Amino acid sequence: MKHQAAVIGSPVMHSLSPKIFQFLFKKTGRTEIHYDAHEVTPEHLEQFLQILKSQTGWLGVNVTLPHKEKILPLVDQVSSAVKAIGAANVIEVKGQQLIAHNTDLVGISQTLHRAKVDTTGKSVLILGAGGAARAAAYACASGGAGKICVLNRTLARADSLINDFRLLFASTEWQSAAAIEDVVFSSGDLIIQSTPVGMTGYSAATDFYGELFKNVAPRTVAFELIYRPQETAFIKKAQAHGAQIVLGLDMLIGQALATWEIWLGPLVDKESLWTGLSEFLKLQLKAEL
Ligand code: NAP
Repeated sequence: MKHQAAVIGSPVMHSLSPKIFQFLFKKTGRTEIHYDAHEVTPEHLEQFLQILKSQTGWLGVNVTLPHKEKILPLVDQVSSAVKAIGAANVIEVKGQQLIAHNTDLVGISQTLHRAKVDTTGKSVLILGAGGAARAAAYACASGGAGKICVLNRTLARADSLINDFRLLFASTEWQSAAAIEDVVFSSGDLIIQSTPVGMTGYSAATDFYGELFKNVAPRTVAFELIYRPQETAFIKKAQAHGAQIVLGLDMLIGQALATWEIWLGPLVDKESLWTGLSEFLKLQLKAEL
């Protein structure tokens, strides 16, 4: 039987998912699987999910903006991590059931693991409080982080994140802040940049980092979730202060490989696929310039 999968969103044309999955299908000899990008507006989301259920051969879909949160009430099963994060980026079709997953969380955890960043007992500063920040907070807290501070220009959103996570991860100390001056542990072990500031096409000024890097020690790890461009203002600043850099491109790869494993089972030789995909995506992103 022919299988198919897709990425859905609106707008969806900038998604790298079709290129990523076509690369993976080719490398793993699964070229019979068809992967497409589908422009699905919020009004048509429910209807599209009904089609997924009614047609045979669907493995699932990757979900991008603006559906990551709105899709949750429309599926049949939601994992506890998805529930806590409040967003899903992958749907698995299993029989007549739609199951929501969050592989951004897996992508973050695996990227930290590959960079040999152990969050146990560590102090983490998260910039932003949106869906990616929630996945980052979940990854660090479940990895045993000692302290997590969520810094967001809208304090209520940072408060909402820590209120949702405090009970789940009671051994982590949580703090919210709206300004860098209010961050108690600004010289943290790990800083995760999860706002779109610095992203290609996003025009906001990048100076909101302010004095963030003043207290950065060489042991500090700076994790930038943005992968377009490959080198953001945050990365440049962190590098200038001697921090260890972790890239959003790796998170993108980690979440894609985790998606594959949900749909198709364990990958053999994951490490060489990771390396190959990384080289492929760097070339793709360079070609976009
Ligand atoms: P989101 O839900 O829209 O959240 C964005 C967050 O950034 C919010 O907390 C927002 O603050 C803050 N923000 C936006 N503009 C700002 C500005 N000018 N100054 C200060 N803060 C600002 O977005 P998301 O889905 O979490 O995505 C965030 C970033 O992660 C994006 O750049 C995305 O590309 C990246 N990402 C990467 C991957 C990957 O695979 N590497 C995966 C997912 C996401 P307010 O609450 O005040 O609005």
